[in-house]
Amino acid sequence: MDAVAAVQGYDARKESYEDMNDWLNVLVKKRIAKARAEGEALPAEMAWVAERDHEVYVKRFKPMVLVVLALCIYGIAQTSNPIALLATFVVFYFYIDFYSGVLHVVLDNPRFVRLPLIGVPCVEFQWHHTFPYDISTRRLFDVWGDLNVLLLVKSAFLFGICGFSTTTFMVAGVGYAWGYANQFSHRLAHTAPRNRPKLAVWMQEHRLLMPPAVHHVHHNDHTQAFPVLSGHSRGLIQGMLRVIPNGYFWLVLFVVLTALDLVAICWLVDRIWS
Ligand SMILES: [Zn+2]
Ligand SMILES: [Zn+2]
Repeated sequence: MDAVAAVQGYDARKESYEDMNDWLNVLVKKRIAKARAEGEALPAEMAWVAERDHEVYVKRFKPMVLVVLALCIYGIAQTSNPIALLATFVVFYFYIDFYSGVLHVVLDNPRFVRLPLIGVPCVEFQWHHTFPYDISTRRLFDVWGDLNVLLLVKSAFLFGICGFSTTTFMVAGVGYAWGYANQFSHRLAHTAPRNRPKLAVWMQEHRLLMPPAVHHVHHNDHTQAFPVLSGHSRGLIQGMLRVIPNGYFWLVLFVVLTALDLVAICWLVDRIWS
């Protein structure tokens, strides 16, 4: 079967689909059919999907996103200490960029595609290299919903260890708000200039959010420019990668940060301001 025949039979017209996840899943099928027809060796994330007929792009659970948004508003609004709030806001702005870099280094690793728990997120991340426009095509609720499981895990550690105090809610509120800003920033980097809000363009031009040109470095070379909120910590991530390139170090770092970063920030805020 030649490549042309292999990809026939898939309706790849975007306008034929109401849900962009369905359209993107058809593009995945077409890409795999073409690779097979041409005898191309499939990269790890494609081989994994081809073996299982797995749907890469899924609709996320919207009520969870609404709960997180409500938690962001409540966590910030109920804070009585504006200095502590401002300091937490600034700390998270820099920290979330770094954390997004660590997460991205781990989920881009093709050797982790077959690991339990993080295998599927790895597959989803690595398909973004094939279809960079996926993130700007899917609904913002789905892009935020990509964090559902991660935020559930982080919430279990944060509230389980620190309880339901004012500080805990503030840390969750500010942290999750920057987490959603991180998704939004990555999405903006792949959004056509005419569709970007003016304020967002201004923020990109002033390096408050990641400029698209910085992120496109990553799409040209998947070993560079991992952070996606502001891109400020990309030098730090590259420096750490040069010193410790071993993927398992990054996996352990990611797991430890995922479990304990909010707990540590909550503890610090309480120590400084209580
Ligand atoms: Zn990547
Ligand atoms: Zn991207």
